[in-house]
Amino acid sequence: MKCPKCHSEDWKLASVIYNQGLTDVNTSTSGGTLGAGVGTGGINVGYARSSSETTGEHQTTFSKQAAPPDVPPKPELLHSTNAVAVVQFLGLGIGLYLIFKENILLGFIALALLIGFWSKITNALKSNRDGEHKDYEAKHAKEMEEYEHAVEAYKKWETAAICLRCGALFYPNINSHNN
Ligand SMILES: [Zn+2]
Repeated sequence: MKCPKCHSEDWKLASVIYNQGLTDVNTSTSGGTLGAGVGTGGINVGYARSSSETTGEHQTTFSKQAAPPDVPPKPELLHSTNAVAVVQFLGLGIGLYLIFKENILLGFIALALLIGFWSKITNALKSNRDGEHKDYEAKHAKEMEEYEHAVEAYKKWETAAICLRCGALFYPNINSHNN
């Protein structure tokens, strides 16, 4: 496989260049060598900046070009409305229990009022929750779509190659014999 632009065989996978770029950056931060040598003036001890610094920079430019696309964390569906409903139910139960414990007549009145308002309350809660849920699902669907696009872009990046001569990005399709 040759570069489709300049027909050079000198190319590397973007992922390889990117990872090499990272190692180069890591080594160049601790770059330089402490060396001792015998010169004309005696023994010299010096700190020499490594000459690989320029190639390091060069590869860093390449590695920037070869950087993978960002993949956001996979969005998860939250079941917060269920948790809220459980807490509301428990709170209601404890409240009723306390009223009954204090005064049975008051307890029955509270229960009757609660049953009387029950349909109104549940309907109001339900429509509110349905609206919220719909909004949330729409938001979640959008996030999932973005996530899947990012994963696709990442998979494509894994097969991408960069020509070391002209810098062209292409897809050598090296995995075709594996599939
Ligand atoms: Zn090329």
